[in-house]
Amino acid sequence: MDEYVFKKALTMSGIKNEYHYYISPTVNVWRENVPEGFTLGMHPLDITVITEDIVRWCCHHFEMEVDGINVTLHDEYKDKDCWGQCWEKGSGFYGITVCTAQSFRNFVATLIHEMVHVKQYVLDDWDGDGEEECEKKQYVLADMWWNQSVYDELTGKGN
Ligand SMILES: [Zn+2]
Repeated sequence: MDEYVFKKALTMSGIKNEYHYYISPTVNVWRENVPEGFTLGMHPLDITVITEDIVRWCCHHFEMEVDGINVTLHDEYKDKDCWGQCWEKGSGFYGITVCTAQSFRNFVATLIHEMVHVKQYVLDDWDGDGEEECEKKQYVLADMWWNQSVYDELTGKGN
């Protein structure tokens, strides 16, 4: 008789507990001149899917309670004269813009940079303008996201 190795049962309530911070926020991704199906570099997934996963992964990683995050993607640096921006729209709600005219890794790092600002708003924990913390963490966390994407775990997409 074959021997079976049982993995921990993944129940819906177990998933809800483990991924509470990933699942709970409302995340909207808007596009300015970024077409449906737009991908960056070699990554096969639409940029909207990637963006939502990164935002949720950061909430999960920082274990932060957030109500809503709206991300606007724009395709030209000159549209806003910056790679990314973040602001508080009201308690629990945040807005972010990110430019897609950059490499995949830089795009991920820019979005994570803005999510570190969200964390600074949520915890009300700023060291000066907060830039030093963002710059220190953005690539470290970008690589960590690449290796730990919850989207991969939940969908079994693998690498
Ligand atoms: Zn910044």
